[in-house]
Amino acid sequence: AKWVYTFGNGAAEGGSRMSALLGGKGANLAEMASLGLPVPPGFTITTEVCAYFYAHAQSYPPELAVEVEAALKHVEEIAGRAFGDAQRPLLVSVRSGSRASMPGMMDTVLNIGLNDATVDALAADAEDARFAYDSYRRFIQMYSSIVLGIGHHHFEELIEDFKEARELTLDTDLSAEDWQEVIRAFKAKIAEVHGHAFPQAPREQLWGAIGAVFGSWNNPRAKIYRQLHNIPESWGTAVTVQAMVFGNMGETSATGVAFTRNPSTGAKELYGEFLINAQGEDVVAGVRTPQNITEAARIGAGSSQPSMETVLPEVFSQFVAVAARLERHYRDIQDVEFTVERGKLWMLQTRAGKRTARAALRAAVEMAREGLISEAEAVRRIDPGSLDQLLHPTVAPEAERDVIATGLPASPGAATGEIVFNADEAEQLRSAGRKVILVRVETSPEDIHGMHASEGILTSRGGMTSHAAVVARGMGKPCVTGAGAIRIDSERGILSAGSATLRRGDILTIDGGTGRVMAGAIEKQQPELSGEFGVIMQWADKLRRMSVRANAETEADAEAARRFGAEGIGLCRTEHMFFEASRIRAMREMILADDERGRRAALAKLLPYQRDDFAKLFTIMSGLPVTIRLLDPPLHEFLPHTAEEIAEVAAAMNVTAEHLQHRAEELREYNPMLGFRGCRLAIAFPEIADMQARAIFEGAIEAKRKTGVAPEPEIMVPLVAMKAEFDAVKAIIDRCAEAVTAATGETIAYTVGTMIELPRAALAAGEIAESAEFFSFGTNDLTQTALGISRDDAGTFLGVYIAKGLVARDPFTTIDQQGVGELVEIATERGRKTRPSLKLGICGEHGGDPASIGFFEKAGLDYISCSPFRVPIARLAAAQATI
Ligand code: PEP
Ligand code: MG
Repeated sequence: AKWVYTFGNGAAEGGSRMSALLGGKGANLAEMASLGLPVPPGFTITTEVCAYFYAHAQSYPPELAVEVEAALKHVEEIAGRAFGDAQRPLLVSVRSGSRASMPGMMDTVLNIGLNDATVDALAADAEDARFAYDSYRRFIQMYSSIVLGIGHHHFEELIEDFKEARELTLDTDLSAEDWQEVIRAFKAKIAEVHGHAFPQAPREQLWGAIGAVFGSWNNPRAKIYRQLHNIPESWGTAVTVQAMVFGNMGETSATGVAFTRNPSTGAKELYGEFLINAQGEDVVAGVRTPQNITEAARIGAGSSQPSMETVLPEVFSQFVAVAARLERHYRDIQDVEFTVERGKLWMLQTRAGKRTARAALRAAVEMAREGLISEAEAVRRIDPGSLDQLLHPTVAPEAERDVIATGLPASPGAATGEIVFNADEAEQLRSAGRKVILVRVETSPEDIHGMHASEGILTSRGGMTSHAAVVARGMGKPCVTGAGAIRIDSERGILSAGSATLRRGDILTIDGGTGRVMAGAIEKQQPELSGEFGVIMQWADKLRRMSVRANAETEADAEAARRFGAEGIGLCRTEHMFFEASRIRAMREMILADDERGRRAALAKLLPYQRDDFAKLFTIMSGLPVTIRLLDPPLHEFLPHTAEEIAEVAAAMNVTAEHLQHRAEELREYNPMLGFRGCRLAIAFPEIADMQARAIFEGAIEAKRKTGVAPEPEIMVPLVAMKAEFDAVKAIIDRCAEAVTAATGETIAYTVGTMIELPRAALAAGEIAESAEFFSFGTNDLTQTALGISRDDAGTFLGVYIAKGLVARDPFTTIDQQGVGELVEIATERGRKTRPSLKLGICGEHGGDPASIGFFEKAGLDYISCSPFRVPIARLAAAQATI
């Protein structure tokens, strides 16, 4: 195998297609080098070496040393410097890089090759001895903590002691001589703590750093990040070794990061930040608040610090050209890192820029319109799950608010919660069911779990590309960064801004769309679903084959469903229409009645409610299909529980409480989900199905009178296992239709179909389709019954299965293709064989899950049905499934 790939000087052995082998960073550095862009020369050790490293007790393939030497030689030639040379020393960085970006999760070591001899050469070269010794002491600190495992605090303490003794306040007050003295103290400390001297041999330093970076693949925060982002352990990291360039060599040096389009809004404007005389880490860490790159952005932000456009005009125009070139080449928003060393631009990284859902939509639509990508590609690029972000509420414009500070709008959406000052506390309160806002001076990778547990994140320092901003956008959480007016005293649990003082536990609202920080809870509003969102939805609708319906039974849900573009109702769960107080009593009377007469009396009370409900649904959905399912209550959900409830129902039914109590006990079941539910109810008590069918037909007639459009109800029988069950219920419905027609003179076009939600029904689908006109897969029950896992009790053990890797995903969220999926395929094939015109849909929770939707497309279903708020996600996922 080849373990090492070089790049530099307009050529490279790798390229952007090789990110599995070279990591995203290594692959794109190679690509940029091949494009002839200014990239410091270097080489990448592959992810296969990482796999080897872990499979062989943290050792390397035998050929690796030779390949690294050859690659190093290559870098030396291009750089015109030699590793360890006392006159013209080559210094290198060693960086991690996985296939998927894992910002800040793994280690990086800079300035490798510095030692007591080369530091003097660097000092002479830089014409600034202070810079060289400052770099050397930073290197010692970084290397010692990452490679040798010596705590940072040792070094911080030595620096503090030194400053105190000399009465100096800032690190920048230290001279070259001062740093030399600090370095001597550092080295003594290392010998004391570590038992060995700090390594002077550049090759020892290099291999130490390579080992540490491979080792950092398995540090705890990287592991957590991989779990959160579904990144396989097996991918491993590559290691890129690259010639150092310095952004901290004085006033014509700088370092920065930029997006080729605004990552928050998607607007086509170069968007970034830089710092003069600084190292890359300083920008991302958010320690100094950086300056804008373009003059337009500076004016927009009202910043008084000059932009890169004014202070480094030549480098700026070169950078603008490089950024544009990269975006055209990759045909996507690029997130780039660069360094300017004494007026010369160097590109250090490019990757697809993480963006908010809104930005993703705008950029995709505009790039398609610019001709950079096709409409289908624009649709393919949007993560359906991310649309959720757009359904986030924002602060209502007219709501009263008490703005205590304004920071940068780092990640959109408004969030309200209790103030917490550290990540562990955020996690604790969250698990107690509380909502929190995490408030930090800045965040670091150690805070990830707390950010995850928070409704939103607020920092007082750092820019749009700070750690907090990048991570929050990735999580789709509201975030405000760099709210400089805020003072945080986390020890005492106090946040102050101007005259406002808030304490731990006080309620705070942040608006990540405007950067506003407000005391108290503020009224929110739902977002507009127009603009680019609408365009992408239109394009998606042109591409998709399956139609998308909603599961809805209330007027509000049906209206929301239409707003979100549902093409009908795929499931109206009629039992949900009876939870309301006045109705549930009649429902209980019906369930608990001793005989048919009692049941009919109760049903007579329910009929007008149902008729009215259906008339409204048909009216809202005028012209669109509506599937109404006959009653499917797990009975226990409707039994009276308290003595008060029992007394109430008993009075209405004119029986004693004791009698009713007794009857309720009779009806209690060991396994209600496998009990007296679904079509079993209609078979035992045909009058229930009769009442519902009547309500459907009469409701349809009413809607027709109102709208002039005749609804064509699809009546659905639940929990069928056998054709005989279906036939028995269908006969009730057909008789009722005749009766209604006889009474009103109106004929109603309707179809009768069934849920396929039991394994036997899937297998007997060929026979069932002889009488059923449509099937709707109830994948909730089908999953429950195929796996024999109770959908209500799965929580206690399924999490363990997932954690132990026995199943990749919760089968109640993403369909189990191998088992449940095959049942769907069998039923589809057997049903269609009997009845080619059989209409097929799915209405379980999986209907709104993008991964499952891909499967339903392949299975050839006609439609998917999901909750109204997931309809846009389903429309997009259904389109992507066809690309
Ligand atoms: C199903 O079982 O998938 C279904 C849609 O029905 P319910 O969730 O109401 O049981
Ligand atoms: Mg079901």
